[in-house]
Amino acid sequence: MKNLFIAANWKSNKTAIEEHEWVSKFALSVGDIISDVIKVPIVICVPYTVLQNMKQQVDQAKLPVFIGAQNISKFDEGAYTGEVTGKMIKEHAAWVIVGHSERRKYFLETDSDIAAKMEKAHAAGLKVIYCVPDENTPVPPGADVVGYEPVWAIGTGKTDSPENANTVIASIKKKTGATTVLYGGSVTNDNAALFVRQPSIDGVLIGGTSLDPDKFARLVREVTTGVQ
Ligand code: PEP
Repeated sequence: MKNLFIAANWKSNKTAIEEHEWVSKFALSVGDIISDVIKVPIVICVPYTVLQNMKQQVDQAKLPVFIGAQNISKFDEGAYTGEVTGKMIKEHAAWVIVGHSERRKYFLETDSDIAAKMEKAHAAGLKVIYCVPDENTPVPPGADVVGYEPVWAIGTGKTDSPENANTVIASIKKKTGATTVLYGGSVTNDNAALFVRQPSIDGVLIGGTSLDPDKFARLVREVTTGVQ
């Protein structure tokens, strides 16, 4: 039996009011499978501005999900206007995504910036989902989870084939020693189970589909019941 892992990335979406509505609906939708779900780590990576509210709401509802941020400062606290440190994130979250291709593309983050971010995350006690677009992008030792996300598949409606994603992920595991590697890129209710049925793929990283709490709850159900 494999150790499944599901992560959601809301990207730059949702106000505090929308976050509240999402968690309420997700709790209702996922409610009847909570005991199955509880065995599978589910990490929901949200904007900084809703971390605190989300943590309170998730704790109150006793929802078995972890909260994550989508970015972290590569610096410690100090004169770095606009940056959010690991220590700040850790007050409300357990995980952080680093190296997402949108950060590499729009914010020109380099492999060394991303490695520095992982170091700061670990120093703050956060776990890291380290995203790479292919098998040749370096993953420094110590990434808790790796996300393989081909750039052309993110938000485009086009996915890698489950078979090719499996081959790439097997190669990432061999090269880096990572034990948990996810596939991400246009995963939906229609295709999620096909990816997690592949032997080397440990789970999925979901962008667009995670914005809808009912679709995401259904996806969690499909993935957890389709594989275990
Ligand atoms: C992502 O944001 O990491 C992602 C995979 O997005 P989408 O599922 O929308 O392609």
